This record gives sequence, structure tokens and C-alpha cells, in this order.
Amino acid sequence: MSSLFPALADARAARRPALRFGEHALTYGELAGAAGAVGEALRGARRVAVWATPAPETAVAVTGALLAGVAVVPLNPKSGGRELGHILADSAPDLVLTAPGTLLPAPLDALPRVEVDTADRAAPPDDGALDAEHPALVVYTSGTTGPPKGAVLPRRAVAATLDALADAWQWTADDVLVHGLPLFHVHGLVLGTLGPLRRGGCVRHLGRFTTRGVARELNDGATMLFGVPTMYHRVAEALPAEPELAKALAGARLLVSGSAALPVHDHERIAAATGRRVVERYGMTETLMNTSVRADGEARPGTVGVPLPGVELRLVEDDGSPVAAHDGETVGEIQVRGPNLFTAYLNRPDATAAAFTADGWFRTGDMAVRDPDGQVRIVGRRATDLIKSGGYKIGAGEIENALLEHPEVREAAVTGEPDADLGERIVAWVVPADPQSPPTLRELADHVAGRLAPHKRPRVVRHLDALPRNDMGKIMKRALTRD
Ligand code: ATP
Ligand code: MG
Repeated sequence: MSSLFPALADARAARRPALRFGEHALTYGELAGAAGAVGEALRGARRVAVWATPAPETAVAVTGALLAGVAVVPLNPKSGGRELGHILADSAPDLVLTAPGTLLPAPLDALPRVEVDTADRAAPPDDGALDAEHPALVVYTSGTTGPPKGAVLPRRAVAATLDALADAWQWTADDVLVHGLPLFHVHGLVLGTLGPLRRGGCVRHLGRFTTRGVARELNDGATMLFGVPTMYHRVAEALPAEPELAKALAGARLLVSGSAALPVHDHERIAAATGRRVVERYGMTETLMNTSVRADGEARPGTVGVPLPGVELRLVEDDGSPVAAHDGETVGEIQVRGPNLFTAYLNRPDATAAAFTADGWFRTGDMAVRDPDGQVRIVGRRATDLIKSGGYKIGAGEIENALLEHPEVREAAVTGEPDADLGERIVAWVVPADPQSPPTLRELADHVAGRLAPHKRPRVVRHLDALPRNDMGKIMKRALTRD
């Protein structure tokens, strides 16, 4: 398979900017040299962990390992000892790569360590001879629904997903990405870091996401922004007071959201203030990207676009029959096939086998409908977002969207809990805008019933100071229990 990063071997690209993290910038020539030095240090290694801080060393470590054919396990520097222990025991890396002088917590401190110096130089290894099925990354899922599983992603999947996105987004070497995400997951690492490097473009990392940082970079030549919904929420909140931000977003070529559903209310506020729509894409650790709104497509709030080139997608009902209708109503589980898929869960043949149908489709566990124009509209996860109440199957997402339109609601999550009459009753977990006068059940039930069908109104409201979220800003519904 040809190189994952052609620009690193291209002398004409050597002076072009590749990365910038604050003051610390590297050209393609510098990155190639530093990645080459990492490749030399990793000689003989099979799989390595990378302490994935939002720093240029992380990008250098990962590109160096990938060029050398060494699989990378990105680690979340904020994860606790228990999660790190699980990932280390499961993935058994030969060593860990860090920025110089990093203090590592137990149990990582017991591993051999290679410190990455971005000023080191050596000839980069040629990855062109590596097999397409050779493992590139072992990325652990977010752990939203259970303990994280290590998805083994071959080189073929990384290349396929990035090239499909390039097609959908008209993504080129001229694009400059503004990045404020962590680097240990698919979104921030594969799309946000390896993506620009594969195109020969540039990534500017904010270190820590701020709306002012976004405004500064987009007003200074950057063309794209990748974010998770919590970031777009902050953007929506900040827009009325930050004219520079509105100008920046209006001038951007592409605003992309993913990792979780973008609330319709936030999408609409951003569109109203900037005239720009946010492009949603849908993917998973296991599948990389499955669908996206295309750069020239219609970005309707609540839709995640159409299957990417090369991706086969179908919706399947509980009894196994495919949903043929694009009627915007018939709900089925999303199943996918394509070159973007992982090979297996590490050490979990049982989970791997259970994840695929007999004819090779991957069961995503996400439920969706298709609109008449073919766009996919995600209803929620089968495990946590589908509520069976009074004989109806109700998606939590549309109720959450309706609640978020209520002026007294800052954040909302909807779950089902057992109910003697209804089977399950709808519970609204609400962070009130003003904790002194939270909205009542009556107000919220009327509000929802006025927008959706009456059977979708919440029967119980519980107020919280904040919703439980993971490091990607995803709501951990598992943690929403009565006590
Ligand atoms: P775990 O599998 O460990 O429970 P996780 O599923 O949250 O955690 P990820 O692989 O990071 O781990 O996330 C993939 C999931 O995120 C998808 O299955 C889907 O539920 C959700 N998701 C991603 N993008 C979108 C989107 N644009 N809209 C709605 N949901 C999305
Ligand atoms: Mg998952």
C-alpha cells in the first residue's frame, strides 16, 4: 500500500507548514526528520503507547510509529489509574512515547520510555511497502456504554476514511484546520491530525479550546474547524457577545461537528448568527467515518448526511429485515460495511464475533431513520436512547432537542425507567438555566407535548447541577440513575 503521508517524502512540500501548537511549529521537512528519529528509536517494537497530550510531540510520535509500521495505542493523559491499567494490561505495549520531562503516573512509569524531541532528525522510514492490513492504531472506545474496547485499525481503514472525507469535504493541501480536541481518539487524532498531514495541509492546535482561539485562527487564514457538540454549544452561547467569532465562522470554508449529536437548537443559533451551517458527520472508533453531509450538500439540523464513498450502509429492524423506505420515520439499526472498518477488538474474539452479522455487516448499535433525500438521521443508541413507552418506540434525541429549546433549560438528557403502566416512562434530566427557579414538570411536559406528539412528554423531571460527561463531552447516560 502506498504511503499514508506522501507529503513527508515529497521534497517540494518540505517548507510547507505541517503543524502548529501555540508557538511550536513544524514544516513537513522538520516533521519528516523528527518522525524519522522516532522510527529509529522504535526499531524492533511491535506496538507502542503514546501519551497523547495536545502537543507536537504526540503528532511526531504517531507519524513516526506509523511510518515505521509500529502500531500505536493512544492514551488519554486525563484517564484514571484504573482505566490506564485496563488499557495497558489489554494492549501490552513494548514502550511508551512521551514529550521530554513528562511525569507518568503508575502503572505507566514501569514501562520503558522513549522521549520524543521534535528537533531530532533522521531519514523517515518508507511505509510504502507495508501491507494494507498491517495494524496502524489500537484505539479504545469512549467507554460510554461499558468498559473501553481496543479497536484494531489497519492502515487501509485510516487511508480509506481520510480519502473519503477528502472527497466529501473537498479537503485539500490548501486547508488549514483549527483543532481544539484531545489527541487520543479518532476525532482528534485520525481526522484532526493525520487528516491534514495526509492531505499535505496544516493543523493548528489551540492547546485548550476557547472561542477566542477559534476566532483568532479562522480570522488568520485557517479554513476549517472540527469540534464536538459541547464546543459548538459554547460557540452558540458566545456568538452574541463576540463579533470577531461571528465574522470568523462566516468566513470559514467548513465547520464540522461529530462524536455525538449536535443539538438542533445550537445548530440553529449558529446558523442564524453567522449564515453558516455546521456539517455533521457520523462515525465510531470501530468504523472511523460512515456518513457525512457533503461540503456542497444540504446541512439540515439533526442529519448526519449520506454514506461516504466506499461505505455501504443499511438500516435493519429488530426482526432482521432491512428498512428500504426513506420515509423519515421507520427506525432501524445502522449496519455498515466498507474499507473504513476495524479488523477486530483486541483480545476480544467474542465481542468481535458478536459485532458482525453472518454476512459481514458491522452492527453499530445506533438507531436511525433515512429522510426522503437519503440523509441519515440518528435517533440514538439502541442501549440507552430508545425508550419503549405505552407501546411506542421513542428516541431520546428529539425530546432532548425539544427540551433544549426551552429558555429555562441549559442542558438536558432523556432516559427511560421502568413503569408499571407504560412499560417505561420518560425521564428528563435537566440542568436549569437558573438553579433558583428550575422549570417544573408541568411546564416541560407542556413544552414538549406542544412540539412533539403528546406521548413523548416527560413524566418525571430531575434537576442536576451538570450532566455527567466524558473527556469528549459525551453524556454518560449510564451514570444517570435515580440515586
Ligand atoms: P463505547 O463504545 O465504549 O460505549 P462510544 O460508543 O461513545 O463508547 P466512540 O466510538 O467514541 O465510543 O463513539 C461512537 C458513537 O458516538 C457512535 O456509535 C454514536 O452513538 C455516537 N456518534 C458519533 N458521531 C455522532 C453524530 N454525528 N451524531 C450522533 N451520534 C454520534
Ligand atoms: Mg461504541
